[in-house]
Amino acid sequence: MKIFSLLTPQNEPFIGLEYEGVLYNFTRAWEIFKDLKTNGRGPNFSFLQLMIEMDYFSRQTFEEIMTTIGGVFPLTDLEETGEFNYAIPIGRPQKVICLGRNYAEHAKESGAAPPEEPIIFAKAPTTLIPHQGTIVLPQGIGRVDHEAELAVVIGKQGRFISEAQANDFIAGYTIMNDVTARDVQKADIKASKPWFLSKSLDTFGPIGPALIPREAVADPHNLDITLKLNNKVKQQANTREMIFNIPQILTFISRFMTLNSGDIISTGTPAGISPLADGDIIEIEISEIGLLRNFVIEASTP
Ligand code: MG
Repeated sequence: MKIFSLLTPQNEPFIGLEYEGVLYNFTRAWEIFKDLKTNGRGPNFSFLQLMIEMDYFSRQTFEEIMTTIGGVFPLTDLEETGEFNYAIPIGRPQKVICLGRNYAEHAKESGAAPPEEPIIFAKAPTTLIPHQGTIVLPQGIGRVDHEAELAVVIGKQGRFISEAQANDFIAGYTIMNDVTARDVQKADIKASKPWFLSKSLDTFGPIGPALIPREAVADPHNLDITLKLNNKVKQQANTREMIFNIPQILTFISRFMTLNSGDIISTGTPAGISPLADGDIIEIEISEIGLLRNFVIEASTP
């Protein structure tokens, strides 16, 4: 099962739900479940938040809904004709938290030792762009790199989350490209400035294409990650190579701050980062999660 946030040609948001190869308009299906609407929240992006908050991704509930709407709203014809656009998988999260140097080989290529505890930093939520969106390189920004990463989407609010409980706080998984203005980052590190600026330029956060519910992923620590730049493999690894695993990361972060439903945690990039240029096509594939494709252009004005 995959959960897509989509836009009609008229830019109206709806939830698309892919199940056994068929894409359903789940927002229309939701209208059947009027008794489940609460707090005046209707069938829009907040509906997805609501599903997560209410733990609607349980298999039993899902199968009940699919049985009710079964086959009524297939969108495969629309998909073939491209009559919808992708949106970011879960609306606007409050926080996008990323892991630095969470793969030993990437730490090495960055000239740093593997960290002894998780290195976290923030990326502005305004960076986020969907599957098929375009990364815009500002003129004169210097080197900008791709970073293929598995991202965790938080499903419910938590603080002081134990490693044993961590799974309960995860809605699911998606793919993130932690695009980084490398020259800016290096200059900032040298000047003892934070990484925030180099990570937070508009369009530097491609994410998607879909949210894969937690229970649909057998083991998030055994997924192949491949990044192709213009069809050439640049990054290839497995999530088992992460230094800090996902429960350890959630435990560490939630010791200091509250995690909220919809927050994104991007788990770090493996080795193989390389620079982007005008006209590039980037494809990140993570087994069981999907394929995130984005385009690169250089801004025509400063
Ligand atoms: Mg990164």
